[in-house]
Amino acid sequence: MYRSDVVEAEGVQPGAVVLVQEAGDTGTKRHAGKSARAIPTLSDKNVRPTRPPVTRTLGSAFYSTASEIAVRMISPKPVNDIEQLIRERIRAAIAYRERFVQDTNAYRVIFSEGDFLPGLIVDKYNDILSLQVLTQAWDPDPMRNIFLSELRVALNPRVIVERIDPRVRKLEQLPERESGIVWPGNSPKYSNHEDSFKYSNHDVIPNRFSGEEPGVPGREAGSSSLRSAPLLGMTSGERGATGASPVEGSTSAITTEFQMNSVRFLYDALGGQKTGAFLDQRENYRAAEKYARGEALDVFTYQGGFALHLARSCDKVTGVDSSRPALEAADQNAALNGREIEWIEANAFDLLRDYSDAGREYDTIVLDPPAFAKSRQTRETAIRGYKELNLRALKMLRPGGVLVTCSCSYHVSASDLLEVLASAALDSHRNLRILENRGQAQDHPSLLGVPETAYLKCLISVVS
Ligand code: SAH
Repeated sequence: MYRSDVVEAEGVQPGAVVLVQEAGDTGTKRHAGKSARAIPTLSDKNVRPTRPPVTRTLGSAFYSTASEIAVRMISPKPVNDIEQLIRERIRAAIAYRERFVQDTNAYRVIFSEGDFLPGLIVDKYNDILSLQVLTQAWDPDPMRNIFLSELRVALNPRVIVERIDPRVRKLEQLPERESGIVWPGNSPKYSNHEDSFKYSNHDVIPNRFSGEEPGVPGREAGSSSLRSAPLLGMTSGERGATGASPVEGSTSAITTEFQMNSVRFLYDALGGQKTGAFLDQRENYRAAEKYARGEALDVFTYQGGFALHLARSCDKVTGVDSSRPALEAADQNAALNGREIEWIEANAFDLLRDYSDAGREYDTIVLDPPAFAKSRQTRETAIRGYKELNLRALKMLRPGGVLVTCSCSYHVSASDLLEVLASAALDSHRNLRILENRGQAQDHPSLLGVPETAYLKCLISVVS
């Protein structure tokens, strides 16, 4: 519920568990729909007597004094024991993964609203857990103790790290904090919530790129130039390091190796974007691999997620990204799997324009750009970005070629992406047959009724 729908929340502390009641006609309501009253249930006893008449109780929620989303429902009933509720929800989230996640020791264990734990994200990479706290409710020590102890008992990790997005903490008006190990070790000291809490308008629905903003669509003057020489001037196979782990002998507390679909990856818990790897594409990697063939181009490869899978079904694979550190990690992953992949550090828009103008051809192209639309306002620009990428890719695909095109922008819908693709097909005079219309992996459950939990689109089509 948005702040504008809250009629009364006097005395409610940041992150409190509140009872939400539907307010009757206040006489001041500007629009139809529910208005809510938040009543603290755990802390503050100094609640003023109710003013607007209460019509019914809607349930319990986490309250944020800073977010534009003031109220996040956690139960349709009054919650008396928040600890028990959280422990049960975590156990249920783990049971859900046991049922639906296969062929991997890396997956999202808790996906915020998708697991009825709004504001908490936990990823598992083999023996490391990586978590993100996105709302006020999860930040105080007593709450941390609850979820950390439950996760430790249930999953027995070697290390638990917390990844901080300073922007989210600022917008939630939480005290500054650094990324680091939260277990084992001496519990870091947290400052309490007495800082001043001011209004801000921020939507904290988890996004693949809640951290860094890794790119912008379009080609701007002065944007990074195309460097088409393979990274480090060699492919991974030439180093003779096949099969050997580059971190062998230097295992640190925050690095590990995980596998998905029998592909091996290195993981550095405090490096990389987001929580280090794009787990949401795990099932799409396998689908892409199934149809991919010939010469493949993986655009926006990051640490080689698609490229490493494509290498099992294609003759030659090239991965493109503008981030050199990402490509260095990708190259290490290739060596770990004994694969030869060519890496190119370039702006994807420049490279696709130059390659398609030069008449280069591929049998398989993957497009998995960062979220171009971070808000509804940037949707149109984002759609132009997607159109440009898809048009260039279609021009380069040989007949019978496979296009895997993705969008992780929540504000660009599945039907928007289909429309973009249709218009790119028209402009490039190609016919497309959709092989698969996919979304995010099942360990990122999308909750019917909370559309924001469904954000990733992945269309696989064959070109003629
Ligand atoms: N396909 C990857 C995830 C891609 S994330 C996987 O499955 O793991 C998006 C990537 O796009 C990031 O690695 C980022 O560095 C890269 N990127 C952002 N803007 C770019 C641009 N203009 N050109 C090339 N790469 C870009």
